Amino acid sequence: MIDTDRPRNYRADQLWLADGWSTDGVVAVDASGHLGPTDGPAERLGAWVLPGMPNLHSHAFQRAMAGLAERKGRSDDSFWTWRETMYAFAAAIGPEQLKAIAAQLYVEMLKAGYTQVCEFQYLHHRPDGTPYAQAEAMSLALIEAAREAGIALTLLPVLYMSGGFDGRALTARQRRFGHDVNAYLRLLETLRRHERGDLRVGVALHSLRAVPEVAMREVLAAELTRDMPIHIHIAEQIGEVQDCLATRGARPVEWLFDHADVDARWCLVHATHVEDREVRQIARSGAVVGLCPTTEANLGDGLFPLSDYLDAHGVLGIGSDSHISVSPVEELRWLEYGQRLATRHRNIAARKERDSVGETLWRAALQGGARAAGLPIGELREGARADLIVLDDAAPQLAARSANAVMDSFLFAGNAPLVRDVLVGGQWVVRDFHHRDEAGIAARYRSVVEQLAAT
Ligand code: ZN
Repeated sequence: MIDTDRPRNYRADQLWLADGWSTDGVVAVDASGHLGPTDGPAERLGAWVLPGMPNLHSHAFQRAMAGLAERKGRSDDSFWTWRETMYAFAAAIGPEQLKAIAAQLYVEMLKAGYTQVCEFQYLHHRPDGTPYAQAEAMSLALIEAAREAGIALTLLPVLYMSGGFDGRALTARQRRFGHDVNAYLRLLETLRRHERGDLRVGVALHSLRAVPEVAMREVLAAELTRDMPIHIHIAEQIGEVQDCLATRGARPVEWLFDHADVDARWCLVHATHVEDREVRQIARSGAVVGLCPTTEANLGDGLFPLSDYLDAHGVLGIGSDSHISVSPVEELRWLEYGQRLATRHRNIAARKERDSVGETLWRAALQGGARAAGLPIGELREGARADLIVLDDAAPQLAARSANAVMDSFLFAGNAPLVRDVLVGGQWVVRDFHHRDEAGIAARYRSVVEQLAAT
């Protein structure tokens, strides 16, 4: 609830605007939780105030299995062996468990500086594949968890129809992911009724291997999906590229551009294995590439050609995906570090002489994250939702930092948390490093994970 109908004015010594830091910036939060015109005296929040970061790719349930797939197996460990571990884990998760895990995850996201999350949600049915009495029960669990934690949500129910490019049926463990097109559109329609300022609903096509061409066309042609964001996993694995070439005669990104009107509504998640022509196609389309550097590293996916993509003026955002890390700082840091390790050069993301890598990356991920989440603006200006974070100006890492150095220190100086306060939709959800309900949410999470470990 908003305390008052009057705008609340906040002031920062330095406020992050579209073109960089602004001295003595003021924002006003109106009764709807958006930024409006300022009037009257303003409360000082701190030295450094910047927009909260959208997290454009999350599978919330995977938070509870982070760290459980790091032991050497008998076979050649890869994405595909990890996926078996993940499927077995998912089989024990129903709505109550999902809500508890997601609420804990969202608290962690907020404390790290994420203020919006895109949920790529494919656990739809009971573990045996039969629908719940309320067909959308698992999606509702995520909506409830997001509202409890106070994070804004872009809910992306996933269409998942086949087990491979050859159209094979879903396996027993995959059956709970499946819908036909009509049932899927009904699910979107039902969930759309829950939309309001902190919830948007969008389309997720799991991947080209899981969605036949005809189904993709039907979903994209439906009136209902016309203004929705569209997300898809694509070209994450070499095996996927090879299968796509073998069955469809084209690489995944190449095939998608030949068969869909890919534009700024699209988020291509991973897009790891792309050639020069595909890089230019994505950049030209205005689609967002959804990079998840810590998960891509953890799964041994490969490296996205960041430098070529930025040269082509491509749009990108970041996601925490499997949640082996929940921190925009670490995602952006590893996005840069992966490139440094591969090229044996430094400061890869910066495009101009003396440009700041930290500022470049934060700004790029804000813009792409907002676009992928279906938000109109990823900046602190009138009309945007009031989502902001306040850095800890008492932290030693930020001592004596000028405006042109603070973002580099935020992203590249150590591991102590530097996000002190977080406002989402005009509500303080984190103050002085503490989330308003963190103890209760953590206790419920612990008890659910203990139950899962015992089954
Ligand atoms: Zn994913």
